[in-house]
Amino acid sequence: MAIQNIGVIGAGTMGNGIAQVCALSGVNVVMVDITAEAVDRGIKTVSGSLDRMVKKEKISEADKAAALARIKGTTAYADLAGTDLVIEAATENEGLKLRILKEIDSIVPATTVIATNTSSISITKLAAAVSTPSRFIGMHFFNPVPLMALVELIRGLQTSDETVAAVQAFASAIGKTPIAVKNSPGFVVNRLLCPMINEAIFALQEGLASAADIDEGMKLGCNHPIGPLALADLIGLDTMLAVMEVFYNGFNDPKYRPAPLLREMVDAGYLGRKTGQGFYTY
Ligand code: NAD
Repeated sequence: MAIQNIGVIGAGTMGNGIAQVCALSGVNVVMVDITAEAVDRGIKTVSGSLDRMVKKEKISEADKAAALARIKGTTAYADLAGTDLVIEAATENEGLKLRILKEIDSIVPATTVIATNTSSISITKLAAAVSTPSRFIGMHFFNPVPLMALVELIRGLQTSDETVAAVQAFASAIGKTPIAVKNSPGFVVNRLLCPMINEAIFALQEGLASAADIDEGMKLGCNHPIGPLALADLIGLDTMLAVMEVFYNGFNDPKYRPAPLLREMVDAGYLGRKTGQGFYTY
């Protein structure tokens, strides 16, 4: 049976993006956040994003209205009762996610697939929090969700083939391209991307080349649309450090040690674009 009714937990950056993409594809969405203000902000963000799509003639006014009508914003978890799939996209905090998953689990039937958009927490560990772990999976979307085609589908140790197949079909139905990944720190994309950025920081710290030249090298030499140090500033250096620590601790392997300069920058409060100062000044 095709998935037609979903729940999204969290109306923030990722949650409202996921809600938008699903609603535009004809799926009914219940979007849950903790306060009415957070829910309203999420709906407003979707509305603004759809406005820009109308302006660019990618969708009609009628498409926009229909998509918005398919999103029910709420603070009541009980509204998730009729959903076939719930995608958890709340704040990245293990204790919080475990509590949320137990709450979802107490409301939806055992046939509902429960997915998480976590970037760094073990899918196997989160699966253990629900009563039917075989129906649990990682669905890792990329930011901004409406523009990025990829979804990593991460199977925990307990995830069944049926769950993978159902979520693969759903990801394709909402216009995304899924790749199948086993549970492991950073999954595939961040596992390759973040150590590359970390190595660029080592190169800078060693005086191998200037930040501008390291970035120019990777743009022109590897056809990357943005250099690794500019990308680190965009992601946030605190987030970069947290990810490298997840790898370092998760694999117990010194090859993932964060570059000392990265830690220095974070200690100084130079977090990238969001603070106006990172490897570049904004
Ligand atoms: P965000 O801070 O923009 O949004 C999180 C939302 O969750 C907030 O609106 C918050 O009020 C809400 N929330 C907190 N507790 C809640 C609860 N108990 N019930 C319902 N809602 C609750 O964060 P985000 O960037 O959207 O990240 C969400 C998830 O997506 C995280 O797990 C993150 O690791 C993952 N992720 C983020 C990105 C990214 O680039 N931002 C990319 C991929 C995955």
